[in-house]
Amino acid sequence: MSSKRDYYEVLGVNRSAAPDEIKRAYRQAALKYHPDRNKDEGAEERFKEAAEAYEVLADPEKRNRYDRYGHQGLNGVGMHDFSGMGVEDIFSVFSDLFGGDIFGGMGRGGRRRSDRGIDIQTVIEIDLKGVLTGVEKTLRFERNDFCERCGGQGNEPGTQRRNCSTCGGYGQVEQQQSMGFFVSRQVIDCPHCQGRGSIPDRACKQCDGSGRASRERVVDVKVPAGVHDGQSIRLRGEGEPSHSGTNRGDLRCVIRVREHEFFQRDGDHLVCAYPISFTQAALGAQVDVPTLSGSVPLKIPPGTQHGAIFQLPDKGLPNLRSGRRGQQIVQALIEIPKKLTREQEELLRKFAATEDKHVLPESKGFFERVKEYLTRETTTKEDEE
Ligand SMILES: [Zn+2]
Ligand SMILES: [Zn+2]
Repeated sequence: MSSKRDYYEVLGVNRSAAPDEIKRAYRQAALKYHPDRNKDEGAEERFKEAAEAYEVLADPEKRNRYDRYGHQGLNGVGMHDFSGMGVEDIFSVFSDLFGGDIFGGMGRGGRRRSDRGIDIQTVIEIDLKGVLTGVEKTLRFERNDFCERCGGQGNEPGTQRRNCSTCGGYGQVEQQQSMGFFVSRQVIDCPHCQGRGSIPDRACKQCDGSGRASRERVVDVKVPAGVHDGQSIRLRGEGEPSHSGTNRGDLRCVIRVREHEFFQRDGDHLVCAYPISFTQAALGAQVDVPTLSGSVPLKIPPGTQHGAIFQLPDKGLPNLRSGRRGQQIVQALIEIPKKLTREQEELLRKFAATEDKHVLPESKGFFERVKEYLTRETTTKEDEE
């Protein structure tokens, strides 16, 4: 039979300890022996032993049985088998009691601000071709990281850490501030141990006990095709540890898409203006339009108007989710020659002589509108005078 230690002894309280005292004692023991913090041999066993002791002593009925009959008295009583449980699961058993405030980021549901690690952020700039194909970028950056020599513990390898006397191992202290009549209380990281709950017997030579060092990190980032400007990619655990934490924050890569000289993005579509001459517009033409992947032929039909829109299906950008490509929208811009040769001018004058302005409905509408506008303007002016 395994010889179990006395539960009161495990938690370091006497037999008449009040529930509050038991709770406090368990918190301290759990913090002290948490395997993330305490790398000593047997720490995990101690951690589990404390959980078991707490489960019994925190429950009046179980405590009563234990007080009367010792470990034997608990036979047949529903108990957790902590020895076979992972640390995370033990925390989830007691999460309602602790709310994560003491264990911070170490326990499930931990909410202590500093223990989650510090998020860092970087910008990745790509061009529209990168949006089309997706790109892989290698990021090389300096980050505040765990010290290599001590693994972030802060003590010289092979030496121990002692419970911090200022905070009693909690890592946090209550700070009182009086402002006139008001006294505000605030929980802050313990200034003596920087929120760690313990101090090294001998500080690590390399980091001077901080447990942190600036280190270069190389990370490959996959930027997916179809990504939009301003979106970001989160790389979990590639951030920095907080000064007392055991986890790294995240690295957020914000995507910037460089502007293109003639393509404009509209969702998954690409829009571009394409200049054609007025004769091409009138007579029709076959032109080559640039796309992100080579140029494609486009038929300009006779009688094309300024601003007319043509669609090139599947020549836009891929959709981030479906991968389906949008279209390229080509807008025809009719250019009027600024200078004409004498021959061209002659031809155009001949052409103009054949032109019957009244059969061009758009032009007619426009000139009528101008006439109306001028009349309106003149009447208003007369009214004002
Ligand atoms: Zn170190
Ligand atoms: Zn402290």
